[in-house]
Amino acid sequence: MSKKNKSKADASSFFSCIEKNFDKAARYLSIKKGLLEQIKSCNAVYRIHFPVKIGKEIQVIEAYRVQHSHHKLPCKGGIRYSTKVNQDEVMTLAALMTYKCAIVDVPFGGSKGGIKIDPQIISVENIEKITRRYTSELIKKNFIGPGIDVPAPDYGTGEREMSWIFDTFLSLSPGEVDALACVTGKPVSQGGVRGRKEATGLGVFYGIRELCKMKEEMLSVGLDVGLNGKKVIVQGLGNVGYHAATFFHEAGAIIVALAEREGAIYNQEGLNVSNVILHLKKTGSILNFPESKNIEDTEKALELECDILIPAALENVIHKHNANRIKAKIIGEAANGPLTPEADEILEKKGVLIVPDIYLNAGGVTVSYFEWLKNLSHVRYGRMEKRFSENMNTELLQVVETCCRKKIPIEEKKMILRGPREIDLVRSGLEDTMINGFHKIRDLKKSLKIENLRTAAFVFAINKIIDSYEKLGIFP
Ligand code: GLU
Repeated sequence: MSKKNKSKADASSFFSCIEKNFDKAARYLSIKKGLLEQIKSCNAVYRIHFPVKIGKEIQVIEAYRVQHSHHKLPCKGGIRYSTKVNQDEVMTLAALMTYKCAIVDVPFGGSKGGIKIDPQIISVENIEKITRRYTSELIKKNFIGPGIDVPAPDYGTGEREMSWIFDTFLSLSPGEVDALACVTGKPVSQGGVRGRKEATGLGVFYGIRELCKMKEEMLSVGLDVGLNGKKVIVQGLGNVGYHAATFFHEAGAIIVALAEREGAIYNQEGLNVSNVILHLKKTGSILNFPESKNIEDTEKALELECDILIPAALENVIHKHNANRIKAKIIGEAANGPLTPEADEILEKKGVLIVPDIYLNAGGVTVSYFEWLKNLSHVRYGRMEKRFSENMNTELLQVVETCCRKKIPIEEKKMILRGPREIDLVRSGLEDTMINGFHKIRDLKKSLKIENLRTAAFVFAINKIIDSYEKLGIFP
């Protein structure tokens, strides 16, 4: 959260915001207070300070790894590099991971890491040094490992950092046959899975697309069913925002505004996302994109006329001071915690449909789960069945052609014959997860008459966690 946002947002801690949401959900459940306390609290907080030589100076780096819940192992969650990193933030993000995993049925506890640095002003060599040292600190305290805690990318990190983490872990764990599974979000050439990079953005797209198929919900906000022609604003053009915007654009939605740190751009007729990215790469900024209007104060972009608003950057960007000016009818929380509880209440009263982070941005960890499974099984998805499926399809088509006494055109044949590749399997697994997750939350909301999707998502997650404690025999 920027200094500006911090003063605008309410004074309560980020962690207490999540506790408020949790408590609202707990009212729908008859669960002992002690159990709820156990689920809510962070199981382990590791705070580190380590020295790194940068140039001629020694710099002391502040870093964290928080394991929110051990009800399932390993723990899972990204590592963020930002100057805003602090203990409260990492604890909250770790807690969100626990609920997220429960909702999309990914068998992990939640965790999160953070290093308080600005990767934009530090050289690549020094980022590597810091990442490797951080990893060895995690190893030292048993805070990383395929069955212990598995990091992944988050704000300010990506494939490059994950490959350094893997390499450091491997070199300090000789003979560890499952070492690849110590971290996800790796490059495909180093054990990553195809489709992980765009997974969070694609998951956001699948989730909102599903909501937009629901007549009842669309009627409640005065919109037609479907995504085609809907006006969308995306805040944040990082890995999540960029991919989400691209998928919305390809599905026929109109991207009316894109917002970044330096400002926002607006065009009522729609922006071509890939051209904006080319412009960004060329000029270093999205501003002055041809045929668009610059908006100097990037926060103002959130208040523009649109159907769907996708905050895909940092937490608390919508707060009690700007919530009343938000005109979107649907808000899809691609970022973690983009709305303060006050903003949430204001927008709910206005009738805005809010699709909560703990469901909507779970696509990343879902595909991380696929990557972890791939690493543990030591085999690429599709390797066993691709050729077999192709042979079966060939035989089937021959039977169809014989019966119909008609030849199927070669292009159509090729499409039908094709066996599944890794990317096809990953994407269909993700699509299925997001669609199922949406309906589970929506059905629960209806059956228990819960006020909104966020509370329903929390109710669903708490129930799921209680179930696994019961299975372990911990809470008879
Ligand atoms: N950082 C992502 C998140 O917040 C992904 C976590 C993961 O893949 O483990 O969901």
